[in-house]
Amino acid sequence: MKKEINNMYETVKKYCSIDGLSRYEEKVVDELKKLTNDKKIQYERDGIGSIILFQSDKPKSGPVIQIAAHMDEVGFIVQDITDKGQLRLSMIGGIWPLTVIGTKAIVYNAEGKKYEGVFGHTSIHILELEKRNKVPELKDLYIDLGFKSKKEAEDNLIEIGSRVCLTGDCFLMNNEYAVAKAMDNRAGIAVLEEIINRIKNKKLKSQVYFVGTVQEEVGTRGAKTSVQKIKPNIAIALDTCASHDTYQAIPGIQELGKGVALRIKDMGTLMDPKLIDYLMKLGKEYNIPVYKYVAQGGGTDAAELQYGNGGTATITISLPQRYLHSPLGVCSMKDLIAAADLIEKFLLKIDQKEFDKYIKYN
Ligand SMILES: [Zn+2]
Repeated sequence: MKKEINNMYETVKKYCSIDGLSRYEEKVVDELKKLTNDKKIQYERDGIGSIILFQSDKPKSGPVIQIAAHMDEVGFIVQDITDKGQLRLSMIGGIWPLTVIGTKAIVYNAEGKKYEGVFGHTSIHILELEKRNKVPELKDLYIDLGFKSKKEAEDNLIEIGSRVCLTGDCFLMNNEYAVAKAMDNRAGIAVLEEIINRIKNKKLKSQVYFVGTVQEEVGTRGAKTSVQKIKPNIAIALDTCASHDTYQAIPGIQELGKGVALRIKDMGTLMDPKLIDYLMKLGKEYNIPVYKYVAQGGGTDAAELQYGNGGTATITISLPQRYLHSPLGVCSMKDLIAAADLIEKFLLKIDQKEFDKYIKYN
């Protein structure tokens, strides 16, 4: 297990070290292409950038399956530049401002050059008393790149719309937990890559498409476009979810290291009960830890995937994570390995007969 944990951690580390704000996912695409590069694997793109990978000798019949993990991460873009050359921000996805204040920011200028700065704040020594107990909001956030004026920022080609990414060290904690920024959803991308490499030489009886979707964090947009191209019978969204196993978190079932978390419901989707049963049984059969849970916040690509092809049997397979949408997210490598195991077993088993018998509405 130790070797598997280390391998998975190394994969997660590669993907988490990439900056891939929504709409700017190309570096994640490049890494995914590189790490799955094999004549057995081909890819297509959709019109807004999602990548669709599949076996070169994929069967011409059998159920069509889409497995989607989003490639994008939350962050900011520059809203405007103050006279003193500090950057005010517009949010991409949902970030609690408190979690980034005082950390390092990365800003990309118009030519893609990287600048390091600070998510600034007023030092406590000079902070007005009434502000001390107030939670900072987006309007209070700014980035300090050390510029003296707006002109200096502009001379450095920092402009309205320049993208801003969070930063955080990547490390393996207590031999099991990967810690990194953008864990949501590079953990899912790492699992997607692992499954592609496991099955590429296998003879499947279904037509499987592995999709790195774009712009999930701003409204599941890459799921909406890729599902139109693929027209799946079965769809799986592979994404991180909130873990409840930390001090003062509201009660909830998901925790790190407990295995695959099968989502039953969230704000956008009631997952397919037949598919849930099928995967629960599969988990039991192969001794893979799997449990059900109801999400108390958030949604996934499943919300769009379910509308594909006149209605698609859809589920979300979740990877519990602590500290979502912040500079340091934490996932158990055991959970990622369990998710890869379960999906691999599913792909090796499912065929037209199984689909017609257990999943399709007759
Ligand atoms: Zn996510």
